[in-house]
Amino acid sequence: MKNEPDIVKKLREEEKIGQLNIKSQCSYEQLKIPEETLHETSDKTGTFLENGLETEGDIGELFDFGELYKILFETSAVAITLTDENERIVSWNKYAEELFNMNEKELYMRPVNTLYPVEEWQKIRAENVRKKGIKYRIETRMIRKNEGPFEVEISLCVLKGSGGKNVGSIGIIKDITKLKTSERKFKESEERYKTIFENSAVAITLTDKNERIVSWNKYAEDLLGMNKDDLYMKPVESLYPPEEWKKIRSENVRQKGMQQSIETKILKKNNELIDVDLSLSVLKNHGGMVIGSIGVINDITYQKWIKDALEESEKKFKQLYENAPIPYHTLSPNGEITSVNEKWCKTLKYTKEEVIGKSIFDFVIKSEKKSAKTSFEKKILEKKSYTGGHERTYVTKDGEERIFIIHDYFSFDNDKNVMSVHTTMEDITQRRQVWDRMMKSEEKYRVLAETSADGVLTTDVLGRLTYVNPSLEKILGRRKGKILATLFRDYLSESSVYLFQQVFLDVRKKEKKMENIGLDVIHDGGYEIPIEANISPLKKDGSFIGIECTLRDISERKKIERELKQSEKLRTEFMNIAAHELKSPVTPIKGYLELIESDKDADEKIRNWASIGMRNAERLMHLINDILDVSRLDTDTMRFNMEKCDLTEIFDDAIEDIEPDIENKNLIFIKKIPENLPKIVCDKYRLSQVLKNLLGNSIKFTDYGSITLMAEEKEKHLFIYVEDTGIGISSDETKRIFTKFYQAYTGEDRKNEGTGLGLFICKEIVKKHNGEIWAESKVGKGSKFTIKLPI
Ligand code: ADP
Repeated sequence: MKNEPDIVKKLREEEKIGQLNIKSQCSYEQLKIPEETLHETSDKTGTFLENGLETEGDIGELFDFGELYKILFETSAVAITLTDENERIVSWNKYAEELFNMNEKELYMRPVNTLYPVEEWQKIRAENVRKKGIKYRIETRMIRKNEGPFEVEISLCVLKGSGGKNVGSIGIIKDITKLKTSERKFKESEERYKTIFENSAVAITLTDKNERIVSWNKYAEDLLGMNKDDLYMKPVESLYPPEEWKKIRSENVRQKGMQQSIETKILKKNNELIDVDLSLSVLKNHGGMVIGSIGVINDITYQKWIKDALEESEKKFKQLYENAPIPYHTLSPNGEITSVNEKWCKTLKYTKEEVIGKSIFDFVIKSEKKSAKTSFEKKILEKKSYTGGHERTYVTKDGEERIFIIHDYFSFDNDKNVMSVHTTMEDITQRRQVWDRMMKSEEKYRVLAETSADGVLTTDVLGRLTYVNPSLEKILGRRKGKILATLFRDYLSESSVYLFQQVFLDVRKKEKKMENIGLDVIHDGGYEIPIEANISPLKKDGSFIGIECTLRDISERKKIERELKQSEKLRTEFMNIAAHELKSPVTPIKGYLELIESDKDADEKIRNWASIGMRNAERLMHLINDILDVSRLDTDTMRFNMEKCDLTEIFDDAIEDIEPDIENKNLIFIKKIPENLPKIVCDKYRLSQVLKNLLGNSIKFTDYGSITLMAEEKEKHLFIYVEDTGIGISSDETKRIFTKFYQAYTGEDRKNEGTGLGLFICKEIVKKHNGEIWAESKVGKGSKFTIKLPI
């Protein structure tokens, strides 16, 4: 029993039976034993039957089944496993070892269920093979060692022992992984083509050998505006206008088998013609017979439209390019000029023929040639479509240099290599010249401002500093960087801020310069510096954009003024003391002289001397009184006894005082005083002092003619006039006569015995009455003094 199959051996051993009658329920056909094999092995003697094994039917009698099985078993291209009644593997063929990647040790007595994934085993179980006895082609998955499940087709057959008892089973296992994958793949691709066909955005039609449409996709229906009834069995020719069909025919597709991209027109159901791109393939059977064709129809109406539009726009662009008001050129990547427009030629004074094909660098100014070339080459490598504008100077045919801002635009091919360069040029020559001139003049002003000893600043509309010069930095004790963009008023003393704001608004409103504004700025050190400012509006395009301001540090001047005031005060004090000291001896001198004058016993000559002495004493007294008045006014110690006064009284008092002198000089005195003049508030003593002074001067400087005293009420004021027909005063002196000690030129022969203080005192007194005093005069004709007092 050497060649006995293991299962038989096993069965024999376990059942302990001499002869087994294994009744297989499967025939050789069912077991897929090829016929040829049966014949080949027909002469081989086996032991199966000898040993009493029987198979159903008579085939067993013809063949040595034992041997046949063994060969089949061992050489089969399918895996075969035998299990015992406990479903443990007891025998297998070589292929099974390969299929499961297991050796004898691993397979022998292995529970067969361990060859399946759990769920697959359940599926097998559910097949109920034990009951049915046999089951073909169960598609399931089994496990290969170290690899996991793979797809198989398995046929199972139960082996029954005597009495119909299950003694085991045979499994014939076929690896169908490859089959499955290719099946899947086929299915997928079929599916895919179906989907493509159905959902394709191109129309697809299939025709039979008679060129009638037999199949089409949805898009074809949409494109042609036709439905199933319209399309089915429609001669494909009728889809085209006759001349187009002729064209298609002439392509000879049947012979070539295929033709792509035939540009043609197709008729829609409503006879509308549409532009299409047609690809045709001929379908042939194995024998090479044409059985139909596939047409792929692509609607290119839109593309055509775009193409036309593009052509149109290209035409327009070309026109634009030619007529563009700016120079324009295109270059090859090595800088060779490929085209220029009219304006280019006009600007650079060359003809197209003269420049096309030449290098653009031939036209660049010599000094820029090299850098222009390097920068161009660099840009070509940068592969950017635009790199910003830059300046370049070209030379015209007649040698003139012209400056341009040039903008290069690079276009690329599919590999991102520069194909061409398009350059627009903006001629800025003139602008540059203007600019240069402006810069030069601006530079001049800038230098002036920078070097000015005065502080210079500009602000914006809000008063924020936009420029400060070094002198101003010095005045403020702050660096430019720190104060620019801050408010100028932040550096002014509290009391100056308001004034400055006021001036700022005024300058803005009146658009007019304002001068000599006294302000105090605050130095970084915290102390105030007096300045005098001139402020003017800054304008741009006619509108106010800020102010320009020059500042002069007047600390020094103020200091001198203070010192001056101080010294003046000292002088006034001295004069005051001196006057008082002088006054005390003059009074007794005058008294004694008066005594001599009135002494009848005294010699005529002595009385004369006394009266000369008396006149000089009076002059001295007059001078002392003037000095005392001036010092009182300077020190603001002159007392004013203000009361409501009737002016007639004051006038009369003054007139009475001067009458003798008028008589002495034979002058005419005219008095024009209206009767009911209003009363005014004044110090009548001081006011009459003023009148006496004016009248006294008039008499003094008038030799012939008249002296007139007038008054009138006008514009809520009282006007008093003292007019004479005397020597007059030159016009430039009329103002100065009111200053201290000033005496106008009164001629070589005139002895002005005055002090030069009288009119100063008059002015100060009138001022104390809130009034004004002025003189009008013509040399040789006379003078007119006017006092204006508020009522
Ligand atoms: P004084 O004491 O010298 O007169 P005033 O201050 O009164 O000083 O006058 C100043 C100067 O004004 C005089 O010296 C004279 O030159 C000039 N002046 C004043 N009044 C007249 C006038 N009515 N006619 C001509 N010159 C006059």
